[in-house]
Amino acid sequence: MNMLKTFSKGGVHPSENKISANRSIEILPLPQKVSIPVSQHIGAPATILVAKGDKVKVGQIIAQSAGFVSANIHSSVSGTVESIDAVLDSSGYKRQTITITVEGDEWESSIDRTTDLKKDIQLTSQDIIKRINEAGIVGLGGATFPSHVKLSVPSGKKADVLIINGVECEPYLTSDHRLMLEKGHELMVGIQILMKALNVSKALIGIENNKPDAINYLKIIAGEYKGIEVHALKVKYPQGGEKQLIKALVNREVPSGGLPIDIGTVVHNVGTAFAVYEAVQKNKPLFERVVTVTGKILPRTANYMVRIGTSVSDLIAAAGGLPEDTGKVVNGGPMMGKALVNTDVPVTKGTSGIIVFQSKESKRKTESVCIRCAKCVSICPMGLEPYLLNKLGQQMIFDRMEQENVLDCMECGSCSFECPAHLPLLDYIRLGKAEVSKIIRSRKN
Ligand code: SF4
Ligand code: SF4
Repeated sequence: MNMLKTFSKGGVHPSENKISANRSIEILPLPQKVSIPVSQHIGAPATILVAKGDKVKVGQIIAQSAGFVSANIHSSVSGTVESIDAVLDSSGYKRQTITITVEGDEWESSIDRTTDLKKDIQLTSQDIIKRINEAGIVGLGGATFPSHVKLSVPSGKKADVLIINGVECEPYLTSDHRLMLEKGHELMVGIQILMKALNVSKALIGIENNKPDAINYLKIIAGEYKGIEVHALKVKYPQGGEKQLIKALVNREVPSGGLPIDIGTVVHNVGTAFAVYEAVQKNKPLFERVVTVTGKILPRTANYMVRIGTSVSDLIAAAGGLPEDTGKVVNGGPMMGKALVNTDVPVTKGTSGIIVFQSKESKRKTESVCIRCAKCVSICPMGLEPYLLNKLGQQMIFDRMEQENVLDCMECGSCSFECPAHLPLLDYIRLGKAEVSKIIRSRKN
């Protein structure tokens, strides 16, 4: 029997609920205004280049990367800068944001707006990395790490394989699935661009076996593109984590505190590879992305191509509006996403989905005491002891949390999901991670 590959340590099987999987990508109509935060990535916020009253075009740079780990921000619309102010974003914090009133839809003339597939890659590897940097591309799987940084391999290190994440293991989300089905050739060219930038001859695309249409389609077209293989993976959460995907595909382990490049791998998401195609072959900066809008109580579910800065409330309105019995709206997947306190927040580069849950679905179950069943230990994909970290977090014993490798926690939520006592383990583990990070930073200063 042909056993499907997967990662070895831990993992859970939440209900998939991919109810928007058959909804083709639709272009969301232009909003009346967009609010574009200058911090949509890991790293320094970008430096604002425009002022109130300025006219901007689609694709125009409006905030410039403020360091190596930072990213340019481009206008997603044409219109007038209405304000520059601290505005609430999906994290619940206020961030410097450029709000633009939409007037028409005038694009920068340098952007190739045709749908022609451009296969020939003319830029050198250095120029590819430069273009990706200029285009403001960050990891679109949710991590939002600037992509040019991942492609700039430090001296002494070498990548031998590029790994492409088409796993989409979070329940409900389907934006990557649709992209693989509808933009397969663009994705393949994007992967070849990334291979050229990294100087590797092999790329492996990992896709969970609950997307057989995407696996079959990409396997067929991969024959046209040298060095790209498509692998079906067993369905198991959190396979979309970098370390889990590397283990599943090439059976290598990233050491604690290490990076994929330490073991010769670089991982990019399918959405990122598509954005790379558009930046390099079409000169199009990252100012729109596919966002799944879903939930069992929504009148309709959808996968929208959305201009960055569009309000989440506009997306929900397009999907039929917020039902009366809404209990919770989540930005991202149900396992790792964050509940929104307000839907009047902008879609950013890291927004993969918006899920609307009914009241009864969103209620936390009543907690009881830990029964020492060790389930949380057996399912933790990072080999941690969540029950212990939870206890240490409650008691604020942060030095011990550091010794117990709390920083290795990838916040996948599997422990809270599986705990029969319904303990919100991740809440205290997150708190501990934040405190331990602070302590480590203060030690360095
Ligand atoms: S949230 Fe952290 S501790 Fe819990 S299972 Fe995931 S990696 Fe382990
Ligand atoms: S899964 Fe829950 S009940 Fe079981 S050991 Fe872990 S914390 Fe305790």
